[in-house]
Amino acid sequence: MEHVSVPPLSRVAVCGGTHGNEMSGVYMVREMQKQKVDIAGSVSVTTVLSNPAAVDACRRYIETDLNRCFTNALLSGPITDSTPLELRRAQELNALLGPKGSRDAVDLVCDIHNTTANMGLCLIFYSLDWITLHIYKYIQSKMTSAPVRAIQLDIPISEAYSLESVGQHGFAIEVGPQPTGVLRADIYNVVKEAVDLTLEWLQKFNSGTTFEGGKVEAYSLVRSIDYPRDTTTSEITAAIHPELQDNDFKLLQPGDPIFKSFSGEMVKHEGEELYPFFVNECAYYEKKIAFHLAQKKTLTIPSISVKKD
Ligand SMILES: [Zn+2]
Repeated sequence: MEHVSVPPLSRVAVCGGTHGNEMSGVYMVREMQKQKVDIAGSVSVTTVLSNPAAVDACRRYIETDLNRCFTNALLSGPITDSTPLELRRAQELNALLGPKGSRDAVDLVCDIHNTTANMGLCLIFYSLDWITLHIYKYIQSKMTSAPVRAIQLDIPISEAYSLESVGQHGFAIEVGPQPTGVLRADIYNVVKEAVDLTLEWLQKFNSGTTFEGGKVEAYSLVRSIDYPRDTTTSEITAAIHPELQDNDFKLLQPGDPIFKSFSGEMVKHEGEELYPFFVNECAYYEKKIAFHLAQKKTLTIPSISVKKD
């Protein structure tokens, strides 16, 4: 695979509190602001508390999920009296860090999230972006305190709905398990290590280091599974099976248990072998998602270095 060279990446945004009850990012951003981290070598760092109203209320959101507001259509829509608070905030963030899709947008957005699922550290992104994949490879090679995985969502960037899509490059850092509204030191440390390694990679990249290519693994979303429901009331009738709980990324074979009903029956996985993730994520009950299923892909990435002119 041919070598790729890319202009320097000098402006990065580190965001937390996009979901107001995911505490690692909230405290990471506050700490960086307290320490006045606005420059890291050759990189200028903007720290953003994305949804301050939701952070104050310690809720995921106030009126609508901020991290579903960053599609091109929503960002360019008119603001009226009935526009939800989060959509107004999304347009503010787009003005601050974007505009999405333009050369003025920051070079990299790193948005910090927590999950109640046992997922370790995941980098989540849309397109196959060499910068993101190299940062992922770098973090994976250095991180010792948690498993590191990549999740690719196959959505065109104009329809990409989350904050990191506003940057020229971007990814979400998703770390768990951590209950909403709770801070765990082990999880905070994983987030801090990931942010520090991202800034370290950017500085090395800007100062001329060549990063070798190679193979990396990434999970790509195939489909989402809802809970079994009562056909008349729509209430859920089962919980995640104990054998699936906390076993994110453990290959599910046909016949493996996935739900245990409240009357004691087991529901089995049907269809092809796939990898479950976001298993029993608290915030996905309202989205009617019990877990996602993914395929594992091996990607070949080129070597990369900064373009000098
Ligand atoms: Zn989140």
